[in-house]
Amino acid sequence: MRVREHLTLSTAAAVAAAPWLKKDTWIPFAASILIDVDHYLWYAVSHRTLSLRNALAFFNQADPPQTASMKFMHQPLFLGLLLFLAVRLRSRLLLLILAGLLFHVSLDVVHITQMSRLKRTLSEQAKSVCPECNRFADELQLHTSYFSNNLLDRYNPKHFIVLCPECHERSHQK
Ligand SMILES: [Zn+2]
Ligand SMILES: [Zn+2]
Repeated sequence: MRVREHLTLSTAAAVAAAPWLKKDTWIPFAASILIDVDHYLWYAVSHRTLSLRNALAFFNQADPPQTASMKFMHQPLFLGLLLFLAVRLRSRLLLLILAGLLFHVSLDVVHITQMSRLKRTLSEQAKSVCPECNRFADELQLHTSYFSNNLLDRYNPKHFIVLCPECHERSHQK
């Protein structure tokens, strides 16, 4: 899920939680947004550069490589460790941070589930043939042809196509 989207949903959640959390509302809010810096930190360390531009270009590739360490702050191990510390130290601050992180991660889970469902159904319909070049591909990749701002329409199959890796790469270079 995109950062902008997380921002919108986290704002909505923060508004809803404000009557209970009062002045602490910003803590889970900030955590739910800042969790994505793990990608950038990973890129900075593994490519030995602080260039934000290169990092964005890397993650905007058609099919960026994905590893668990890249999203280390999204991992159950990291979240579990934080929970352990929060309970151990009886820290309200850590618990609020954890709440923000979990909010973010659950939205990502919904997104990933929807995307893999779309990829499966569209690949089946295409019978593993790329609609762009008509060649057979072992695995077609899901490409977003239209990004709907309406969340209820976001995962509508008509906004997606499946392409072979070559055509997918090309469609991102346009
Ligand atoms: Zn193709
Ligand atoms: Zn794409």
